[in-house]
Amino acid sequence: MLTRTQKWDRLKANPNASVLVIGAGINGIGTFRDLAHQGVDVVLVDKADYGSGASAASSHMLHGGIRYLENGEFRLVREALTERNLMLRNAPHYSKPLLTSIPIFNLFSGLFNAPLKFLRLREKPSERGALVIKIGLIFYDWFARSYRVMPTHRMLGRSEALKTYPGLREDVKYVAQYYDAYMPNPERICVELVQEAERVSEQAIALNYVQVTGAAKDKVSLRDDLTGETLEITPKLVVNAAGPWIDFTMQAMGMETKFIGGTKGSHLILDHPELYRACNGGEFFFENKDGRIVLILPYINGRVMVGTTDIRIDDPEKAVCTPEETRYMLELVNRILPGITVGEEHIVFKFSGVRPLPTADKGYTGNVSRDHSIKVTEPDGVVAFPTLSLVGGKWTTYRAFSEQTADRVLERLGRQRKVSTTHIAIGGGRDYPTDEDEWINHLEAETHLDRDRLRTLFERYGTTAREVAGFMADGDDAPLRFHPGYTRREIEWIAATEQVIHLDDLVLRRTVMAWLGGFTRDLLTEVGGIVAGVAGWDSDRAAAEIERAAAILKDRHDVVV
Ligand SMILES: Cc1cc2nc3c(=O)[nH]c(=O)nc-3n(C[C@H](O)[C@H](O)[C@H](O)COP(=O)(O)OP(=O)(O)OC[C@H]3O[C@@H](n4cnc5c(N)ncnc54)[C@H](O)[C@@H]3O)c2cc1C
Repeated sequence: MLTRTQKWDRLKANPNASVLVIGAGINGIGTFRDLAHQGVDVVLVDKADYGSGASAASSHMLHGGIRYLENGEFRLVREALTERNLMLRNAPHYSKPLLTSIPIFNLFSGLFNAPLKFLRLREKPSERGALVIKIGLIFYDWFARSYRVMPTHRMLGRSEALKTYPGLREDVKYVAQYYDAYMPNPERICVELVQEAERVSEQAIALNYVQVTGAAKDKVSLRDDLTGETLEITPKLVVNAAGPWIDFTMQAMGMETKFIGGTKGSHLILDHPELYRACNGGEFFFENKDGRIVLILPYINGRVMVGTTDIRIDDPEKAVCTPEETRYMLELVNRILPGITVGEEHIVFKFSGVRPLPTADKGYTGNVSRDHSIKVTEPDGVVAFPTLSLVGGKWTTYRAFSEQTADRVLERLGRQRKVSTTHIAIGGGRDYPTDEDEWINHLEAETHLDRDRLRTLFERYGTTAREVAGFMADGDDAPLRFHPGYTRREIEWIAATEQVIHLDDLVLRRTVMAWLGGFTRDLLTEVGGIVAGVAGWDSDRAAAEIERAAAILKDRHDVVV
């Protein structure tokens, strides 16, 4: 694998590329990966880290979006369910089945309003009753039949539901249950896909912390935000996958567009064992008092995720979780579990991001289409290349959207598709064992590492755990002083192999260390010291990295270290 400097130098020496992909969120990365598999010379740049924009702010769900049925988005739901099922097969280490329960307050509500909404004769959703939800779930099961891996839905009466969820509010009359899936750490999928692309093709180059700053004629200007160096590259075609920044990026390249009408969504991570137990291993997905659909999701290490909001916003840089949003999310728990008290003291992490939705008239944000589209800007007097902008695009549908984008690119380049990504396993999802214990037995015999440690590695990295464990066994190692769940060599392995540029890349995205509470200045300093050793940072740079990470944690996540 080339180092970052080698990649930059290669671009300097040969600035021609068939395709430049701007933005390494999941959609830019997916397109980059697909094109790499087709042997296209492609460059991917991101002004920040891989998967750090909208892709780091999702509800972590791989889902068809049952709610989108009432907007009439059948195509999207069918595609998303197929893709959800594929993710469970291709990335079993980072996609987990999720039992989802919808508490319902009455039988008939919404029967007349749901069709009206579908016909666009009604703006806001009315309360959704059991019959409407039942009909939706019949469609959902039908659309999920391709590559089905999970059971179909069922409806529970109150007394049956109480056996699993004894704390349910007294006016909950039914509970609908079905399976979706969730991703404990989506940012790791981003890195694995980047690595895969660079591995399958020498013609694929990815650089984080490299920003598109302008364009003229056939050239696009790039700036390395680490060194301040600039260069110009000459692509035949540009894919603008800058998510909520799409119009800003077009503007930087001298083009005026208004493709995006972003809405902000925030989430909280709570350390609340009683609430975690009340979830009984499954997610609650329900209608809040204002008709918005919200969720309570049991997250990793006993934490609980609650979300989300949906507020129009123009500048994605300003997306942080406000006190009003925090209050809204704390209160939503009581809507279904009135006996559980949730307060600020339970919050261990906040995150917020902007959905790159298409522009829409003012109105109820929940009605804005969640489907994706490709907007083409043909060459004009300013630039000599066409630009394909990727508008919308759920996490769940990234592979299909990327394939559709790659097909448009291939058509324009006059090339044929060589392979489909439909069945390509992702990263640590390759050679995934059916018998986890047996797999761990082998690794134990190979490395002589502690069994519990190996199981943790398997949970964190899937079958890539073999590489991590091999590296750990190959030298002196010890648990971190301030977080014994990780070892020194595990951190070294991540820092050395996963394109970590800043310390926050490691504590926020390569791992979920900072997400789960108990994250301290001592731990940040300890991890910073290890990364400094691998990256060759001097003491000034190491200190600056610690301050940078601390500032991001405070400003964006309300975590003070
Ligand atoms: C609150 C919320 C909840 C969601 N929940 C779900 C869910 O549960 N399930 C689901 O499937 N989807 C969900 N989504 C949708 C999904 O997360 C996003 O649609 C998807 O991640 C968008 O990815 P992207 O690659 O298009 O954009 P992004 O991830 O935002 O990537 C764009 C990248 O472009 C980079 N960039 C911007 N300008 C430049 C420039 N000039 N030069 C270089 N790089 C640049 C940015 O740094 C960024 O990394 C949710 C989204 C939000 C915000």
